[in-house]
Amino acid sequence: MLQATLGIDLTEEQRQICELARSFAESELRPLAARRDEEEDRFDRAAVDKLGQLGFLGMLVPEEYDGLGLDMLTYLYSLVEISWGDPSVSVSMSVHNSLPTQILLRHGTEEQKERWLKPMARGELLGAFSLSEAGSGSDAASLTSQATREGEHWILEGAKTWVTNGASADLVLLFARTDTPDDRRGTSGIGAFIVPTDTPGYRPSKKERKMGLRGSETVEVALEGMRLGPEHLIGEPDSGFRYALAALEGGRLGIAAQAVGIAKAALEHALDYSEERSQFGARIGSFQGMAFKLADMAQRYESALATLERAGRAYSMGDPRSRRLSSTAKLVASEAAVWIARQAVQVFGGYGYSREYPVERLFRDSKITEIYEGTSEIHRWIIAGQLHRERDRAQ
Ligand SMILES: Cc1cc2nc3c(=O)[nH]c(=O)nc-3n(C[C@H](O)[C@H](O)[C@H](O)COP(=O)(O)OP(=O)(O)OC[C@H]3O[C@@H](n4cnc5c(N)ncnc54)[C@H](O)[C@@H]3O)c2cc1C
Repeated sequence: MLQATLGIDLTEEQRQICELARSFAESELRPLAARRDEEEDRFDRAAVDKLGQLGFLGMLVPEEYDGLGLDMLTYLYSLVEISWGDPSVSVSMSVHNSLPTQILLRHGTEEQKERWLKPMARGELLGAFSLSEAGSGSDAASLTSQATREGEHWILEGAKTWVTNGASADLVLLFARTDTPDDRRGTSGIGAFIVPTDTPGYRPSKKERKMGLRGSETVEVALEGMRLGPEHLIGEPDSGFRYALAALEGGRLGIAAQAVGIAKAALEHALDYSEERSQFGARIGSFQGMAFKLADMAQRYESALATLERAGRAYSMGDPRSRRLSSTAKLVASEAAVWIARQAVQVFGGYGYSREYPVERLFRDSKITEIYEGTSEIHRWIIAGQLHRERDRAQ
């Protein structure tokens, strides 16, 4: 219903791709979203595979590596639509497209691209991303999982947490320390490894039970003497953290798009309900108190979408403000999604609190967008830091 507002100046190709995303979300994702949430422990790999068959898992990969070679904005708009359908599925699309594929594309060898990137772009292999550990979240560089050289090989020991699709993905882009306990090098002592999930010593150990996004799999992983050949290391052994940070700039745009999709769905449900429900002999939408609420939801949705578009364009053009704008988009969109979903519950009254209607799930799902790929506090910190850097550059 709010479709016309998404990407006002789209090219014909962009419009067709977004419409495909929308119709897939409507026919394949929405009808099962409540069930995915209820069944919590069942990751819907089939839905993600269908996204792959339609090309949505290779959107940002150039055609020479079997992707669609599309621009950032088309990807983000498509992600909004898929998130509108089910955020538990869209998180897989976001992580796969923004993180492991981008790191392989930018830093992988031609052999690694042939072996891993191409099937990922074709949607045949699903990728995950594993940076976080129990003791290192926002301060991601303090991770302790250790990669030790043994001849040509690497032996990995440790434990990773919060790995989205860590059990069901085919491979994980995983970060571990490559410096030694006697010579710790901080952010310059971390390597990035391609880890097929059937590697001996890679053991998903616990599934997280979550407030929302319950149709998405989130696991802890034990690394138990996992042995990897040199072809599993990406780029330089000391540069993994740099690769992760650069990819996360695009990743947070994906999460901003996810938040916009949740906001859009919640606003639409609230608008529909305000037309259907009557009290005091009138539609509740006709009361001024309700009209102002809907107007405020709509203005926050539009602001989030506009901020996402601006950040997406800046990212595509390599604009020096891109880092600040990506963080801003993530912050604005996630806070808008949480606020709008909460208002949608209120518009539904008691029915909004019932699991029979989708807004309570959207409210629970929205919250994660303020936490992963950088919390709101961390993004405020990044924005302020970048403001000072931009000011210094301008002087
Ligand atoms: C559902 C889910 C899926 C996830 N998927 C992945 C994944 O696929 N791969 C992956 O690597 N990680 C993943 N994560 C991890 C996620 O990125 C982290 O949870 C997030 O970065 C926050 O880290 P933390 O949970 O350790 O919180 P902490 O860093 O411990 O933060 C706790 C609180 O302190 C605040 N805080 C911390 N430092 C500062 C500061 N300097 N200034 C002000 N406030 C601060 C935070 O904002 C937060 O409010 C996922 C998490 C969840 C919940």
